[in-house]
Amino acid sequence: MADVSVTAGPVFGRRDPDARGYFGAFGGRFIPETLVQPVEELTAAYFAARTDAGFLAELHQLLSRYVGRPTPLYEAQRATAGTPVRLFLKREDLAHTGAHKINNAMGQVLLAARMGKRRVVAETGAGQHGVATATACALMGIECVVYMGSEDVSRQALNVFRMRVLGATVISVDAGTRTLKDAINEAMRDWVTNVETTSYVLGSVLGPHPYPLMVREFQSVIGAEARAQILRDTGRLPDVAVACVGGGSNAMGLFDAFIDDPSVRLVGVEAGGRAIEPGEHAARFAGGREGVLHGTRTLVLQDVHGNIQSTHSVSAGLDYASVGPEHAWLHSKGRTEYAFADDTAALDAFQWLARTEGILPALESSHAIAWARQFAATTREPAVVLVNLSGRGDKDVEQVRRMLTEKEQTS
Ligand SMILES: *Cc1c(COP(=O)(O)O)cnc(C)c1O
Repeated sequence: MADVSVTAGPVFGRRDPDARGYFGAFGGRFIPETLVQPVEELTAAYFAARTDAGFLAELHQLLSRYVGRPTPLYEAQRATAGTPVRLFLKREDLAHTGAHKINNAMGQVLLAARMGKRRVVAETGAGQHGVATATACALMGIECVVYMGSEDVSRQALNVFRMRVLGATVISVDAGTRTLKDAINEAMRDWVTNVETTSYVLGSVLGPHPYPLMVREFQSVIGAEARAQILRDTGRLPDVAVACVGGGSNAMGLFDAFIDDPSVRLVGVEAGGRAIEPGEHAARFAGGREGVLHGTRTLVLQDVHGNIQSTHSVSAGLDYASVGPEHAWLHSKGRTEYAFADDTAALDAFQWLARTEGILPALESSHAIAWARQFAATTREPAVVLVNLSGRGDKDVEQVRRMLTEKEQTS
C-alpha cells in the first residue's frame, strides 16, 4: 500500500473575525485600559508573523522535527466491529507531551521570541497547558512563569513537578476559588506589570482578540492533516467530525478543515458532569447564556444575576464556565452542533477504548469517544466518523483507579 505522506501544516487567514475581533455577535475585546497596548502589540506581531515565510518555515520545522507531526490517523476496527461505522481516531495523544496543547504553545512561544520577549506567563488549570508552555520555553530558552490556583496545585502535584523539572516557575494563587479563573486574573496582572519583557501565552480559543483566532490557527494543523489523511484512507470526507470541547481549541482545530464542507456534521461534546443542573456540569450549550468572561463575549454558565456558576466534570480540561466565541457563533449559524457526555459515559468510554484498541484516552477525549461509541451502537446507516483523540490518558490513570474502586465499593 502506497503511503502518501501528509505535509499539511496550520492554516492562516482562512476565516478572520471582523476588525474588532467579532465572530458575528461573539468575541471582541473586553479588557482594562492597561491591557490595550500589550494586546495591540501582540495583534500586530501576530498578523505580521502569519504571513512571514521565515516564521512559518520555523514553525513547520518545529512541528515536524520536535512535536512529531503529522500525528497518525488510526482506524479503530475492533471497537466498532459489528456496527456500520468506520471510526477513525486522529492521534493527538501521540504528539510530544501527550496532547494537542503543544501545537499552540509552540506557535505562541515562537511568536514571543520573535517579538523579543525573554519571559512568558501562562495560566493553567489541570496543568496540561502549563506543561506544554514550559516545554516550548525550555526548547527556546525563554523564562516561563505559570500561574495556577492553589486548589489545582495540590490536585495536580505531578504536573506541577513536571513544569518545575522543565525549568518553569509555578506560582500558586490563593485568591477566590483558587482555581483556573483566579490563575488567569493573576497572570493578566503579571503581564500588565511586565509588558516590556513578557508575553501572555493563552491555552485555548478564549480571551480577547486575537487569541481565539490565533489559537484556532495554530491548532488548525489537526484538521488540515486529518482531512488529507481520511481522503487518503477512504477516498472521501467523513460523515461526522467529533471533538470534546473545553475552551474549544482541539475542536476548532479539527472543525476548521471541514467548515466549508456542508456534508460533514461537526459535533462538539461538552462535559455533562453529574447532571445538567447548576454547578453539576460544564455544558455551556445546554445551560449557558450570552455574557462576557475573561475578555470575550460568548456563552457563559451564570445565574440570573450574572454571577459565574461553579462547574463540575470528571475531566479537569473540560471544567470551565465559558466556551470559545467562534463555537458560539458557528452554533448560532447552525453549522456546528453540541452534545454532552456525563462523567459515567466518559469513564465507560475510557475503559472501552482501552480494552478494544489498547489506547488509554485522556478523560477529556473520552467524552468525544463516548459520543462516537453511542452513535456506532445506534445508527443503522454506514458512516465514516472522525474523532479527535485530543490527548493520552496516562495522566488520568490514578483518578480512574480511584473512581473504579469507589464504584466497586458502592455496588
Ligand atoms: C486541555 C485539554 C482539552 C480541552 O481544551 P480544548 O481547548 O477544548 O481543546 C481537551 N483534551 C485534552 C487532552 C486537554 O489537555
